[in-house]
Amino acid sequence: MKEEIEKQIKEFGFPVIADEKSGALQWVDMRELKVSYLMCIENIKPFFEALKENRLVTTKCRKCGRLFFPPQKDCPTCRDSDMEWVELSKEGVLETLTVLFVKPPSFGKYNPYTVAIAKLDDGPRITAWLKMDPTKARPGMRVRVQVSRREEEGYLMYELVPVEE
Ligand SMILES: [Zn+2]
Repeated sequence: MKEEIEKQIKEFGFPVIADEKSGALQWVDMRELKVSYLMCIENIKPFFEALKENRLVTTKCRKCGRLFFPPQKDCPTCRDSDMEWVELSKEGVLETLTVLFVKPPSFGKYNPYTVAIAKLDDGPRITAWLKMDPTKARPGMRVRVQVSRREEEGYLMYELVPVEE
């Protein structure tokens, strides 16, 4: 699409493309959009309070016993909000990982980073940054959730680190 736009700028003078269905010309904005958003966390406040104390908690459906991570207010199976907060073990097994060199715009300023999925010993899967040399990471290795501060914003976050054996 970028090539088509550049061609249009050369030939037509403007960054426009024709709509696939109608053929109508559309202006393609060439400026980057900076996005900031608000998200209500009132329903999952205990999650953040626990993280502050270096603990990991999540919600469990009182009816079917399903654990959710990240925490959810409602159980999609029971269609009910009868949830309780439970503490999770912070250890598990690394399942998969990927190193991101081409990052989404909101993460563009970070160096390449590794995103991994681990299955916690309590069952739920957790997706987080993996803090280790990715060439030394192997599926099946033990990892744990570590609460740390995100550089350079300074707020608390969780990441996966290898369990020293
Ligand atoms: Zn349920």
